[in-house]
Amino acid sequence: MKKQEQLDLVLDILKTHKINNDALTLELTELLGPKAGGLSTNPPKLNDDGEIVELWCTWHKCYEPVESFAKRQTKTGYNRHCTEATKQCRLYEAEVKKLQKLTKEQMEMVLEGEISVEQAKTIKEDNDAKIAELNELKEQKVDFAK
Ligand SMILES: [Zn+2]
Repeated sequence: MKKQEQLDLVLDILKTHKINNDALTLELTELLGPKAGGLSTNPPKLNDDGEIVELWCTWHKCYEPVESFAKRQTKTGYNRHCTEATKQCRLYEAEVKKLQKLTKEQMEMVLEGEISVEQAKTIKEDNDAKIAELNELKEQKVDFAK
């Protein structure tokens, strides 16, 4: 039996018997699961009772209190990045979407003869630059809300 199958089986047994123990699940996952996913390099910090107190945030690249993470069906039982990071990502994406929509609107205006192709091109280049800038900021994890 492959390790992953073993792990799935064990986790399934835990679930069937309604054993909800984050630390145990985690330990088993660490023991049997694949080493990929950053869990080995940045394992969750546990208290003396084996409960998760801090998790590694893949967005902020630091440990944060477990309360900052949403529950998810992952190895740790939590999201890989904190709720604040999710919010930041959404803000970036919303802004990019807005700019992309604007570009589309300009294209339609050209078709309607409201603006020239040159004008639309300038606006599009402007928007593309702004989108690139946003992606750059997102890459650097700049707090978008500030
Ligand atoms: Zn974070």
